[in-house]
Amino acid sequence: MNDLINSSLEKLKEKNIPNAEIDLRVLLNYSNYSKNEIILSNFDLDQININLFNEVLNRRLSKEPISKIINKKNFWKDEFYVNEFVLDPRPETEGIIEESTKLIKNKHYSIKILDIGTGSGALAISLAREFINAKIMAIDISEEAIKVANANINNKKLNNQIKLKHTTIDNINEKFDLIVSNPPYLTKKELENTPYEIKNYEPLIALDGGEDGLYFYRDFSKKINNIMNVNSYLIFEIGEGQFRDCIDIFRLSKLNFHKKAQDLQKKDRILIYSKL
Ligand code: GLN
Repeated sequence: MNDLINSSLEKLKEKNIPNAEIDLRVLLNYSNYSKNEIILSNFDLDQININLFNEVLNRRLSKEPISKIINKKNFWKDEFYVNEFVLDPRPETEGIIEESTKLIKNKHYSIKILDIGTGSGALAISLAREFINAKIMAIDISEEAIKVANANINNKKLNNQIKLKHTTIDNINEKFDLIVSNPPYLTKKELENTPYEIKNYEPLIALDGGEDGLYFYRDFSKKINNIMNVNSYLIFEIGEGQFRDCIDIFRLSKLNFHKKAQDLQKKDRILIYSKL
């Protein structure tokens, strides 16, 4: 195997970076001049921009996540542009899309959807893919996140279907058939203990759910009923261990608990409410 490959793998492993081979392959391809995909066993030094490679390898060695280095993250059926101003879309959040498609069987319905705290736009865009006649509003309180979501919506030519707004739930005066959200829900303590890669490279504003992590659920529970149509659903993500608290909080909302869904580790991660 090539010297550069060997030495890079060694450095990555020294820093305890999991999946060193996979990361190295991604970084080599990020620095790839040629049209041919690089695999570690057929690598030729002429294929890459060595300065660029050294720069991105060093970033990875200082624990920056691959997604933030290459500015890409896959979610559901798409690849999204991401940067330090948005939370990387995560696999557990795909459960929101899955549950939406189970609840609303006709993909051609012209439903109105709201995504609260859209971040990269991953949920809004994935829902636009599934419900091709839906009209979607995606909101966020972070101006920088709105720019990222806008870039993704433009890339995917979904401007007619998704309207972005830099605002909060308080300024929404319409009603929707489906509301989705992955709000910030980490407790103060969880935030302190969150891994370095998240703490340093993901935006605090997308993670911080206040002292007990439940700030946004309390806020939604007071306001959401007014912006839901009859026969509509609310689907949102919760943190580990927040199921009971969320059930208590949403008792005030006048919505009906419909079901919960679990992630691959069998943890309760998604709650569904309906307005009858
Ligand atoms: N699941 C995320 C994490 O643990 C938190 C996402 C959120 O607060 N919405 O980093």
